[in-house]
Amino acid sequence: LRTTIPGPRSRELLERRAAAVPNGLYKAHQIAIESASGALVTDVDGNTFIDFVGGIGVLNAGHCPPSVVAAIQEQAAKLIHFSALVGTYEPYIALCERLNALAPISGPCKTILSNSGAEGVENAIKIARAATGRQAIIAFEGAYHGRTLLTLTLTSKYTFKKTFGPFAPEVYRAPFPAAYRMGVSEEEAVERCWEAFERILVAHVGPEAIAAVIIEPVQGEGGFIPTPREFMRRLRDFCTRNGSILIADEVQCGFGRTGTLFAMEQMAVEPDILVSAKSIAAGMPLAATTGRAAIMDKAHIGGIGGTYGGNPLACVAALEVVRMFDDGELLRRAKQIGAIVRERGAIWLRDIPLVGNVRGLGAMLAIELVKDRATRAPAADEVLEVVQYCAEHGVLTMRAGLYANCIRLLMPLVITDDQLHEGLDVLEEALHVVAQQKGGGHG
Ligand code: PMP
Repeated sequence: LRTTIPGPRSRELLERRAAAVPNGLYKAHQIAIESASGALVTDVDGNTFIDFVGGIGVLNAGHCPPSVVAAIQEQAAKLIHFSALVGTYEPYIALCERLNALAPISGPCKTILSNSGAEGVENAIKIARAATGRQAIIAFEGAYHGRTLLTLTLTSKYTFKKTFGPFAPEVYRAPFPAAYRMGVSEEEAVERCWEAFERILVAHVGPEAIAAVIIEPVQGEGGFIPTPREFMRRLRDFCTRNGSILIADEVQCGFGRTGTLFAMEQMAVEPDILVSAKSIAAGMPLAATTGRAAIMDKAHIGGIGGTYGGNPLACVAALEVVRMFDDGELLRRAKQIGAIVRERGAIWLRDIPLVGNVRGLGAMLAIELVKDRATRAPAADEVLEVVQYCAEHGVLTMRAGLYANCIRLLMPLVITDDQLHEGLDVLEEALHVVAQQKGGGHG
């Protein structure tokens, strides 16, 4: 699997990128990709990589699934664009019907489509405000909801935001029960964060002003931290009692990643609105904001939607992805992949002091690296070295976490056992090599 990156042709493209594209567009790897299939990607120099990033959670159904490619090709020859603002077309309606039926929300649902996760979240917030007549939103530390100005306001990591303020008003931040980081049990983390949540209602904003609470059932950019079920239950209770809308942002954790189509299915309570994107359409730009019909209908006519939202190509891709999940095989595979990675992770946790925590839900797993297990000091440089080592040995991974000290794993669910083990072998070797270079830390 040894690669030479960046190869000459990648180098040339990267140089052109540097001249043509602003530096603010991050890239995790010095590579230029040409093609991909299943769980493998090939760069312009002919290097092949096992993909453990999955386009940042976009490729749960794999790269270029043949049936999705065929659906897009067929649709492209028939109708590429019409705009849902002009009239309607079958793929848009069929997809909304499917999503309304699949959403983990009881009773009638409705769906509005858009082009990106951020737009999907913006729609959820706008609809929640329209439905409640209130303005305030509570979001969490470590949350990531997008890069538009409103969603960047909801996003908590300062390095994403830095010079872009002022941000939108009426967004309040509550601590997230990140038990490992807090150095306490999950129960204790829930108690402490709940106390803080209730304090916000006294110190900063009255409950009667809160339109919505937005939360990722599994925090993504924040470090792949599942929301403790008890915490989600309390948020649900609060929203129900208070007349606020509970928004689940499943942009990264949705569409089969966690072993159920939506992670909320494992949370025992229902959201009022759920946002999905990324893996919904195998890489076509699409997001869906799905919620209780009575709430969704509160946005005024002309207030939601856009020129491209739910374009026919993205819709037929999504319909095919939904069909691919129908028989439950990919969901079973997500659970299996999760079990395999966890098994390997348990060994790393035992043998490699650099590994402080292995966690997640289903096949949405992260490895958190620490300089010292006692202090849990984040090992961010080490993560970059592991990521680089893996790429040089043919495995694409990516960092995550409020402290950028987690390695996130989002391999396509169509990955074969051989590819999975081969990739995990490389990751294991990388962890050992980097741990040794750093002197191992303290057990
Ligand atoms: N919400 C979550 C949970 C995400 O992970 C992301 C993307 N990383 C977004 C929203 C924003 O999605 P997009 O990049 O498509 O705007």
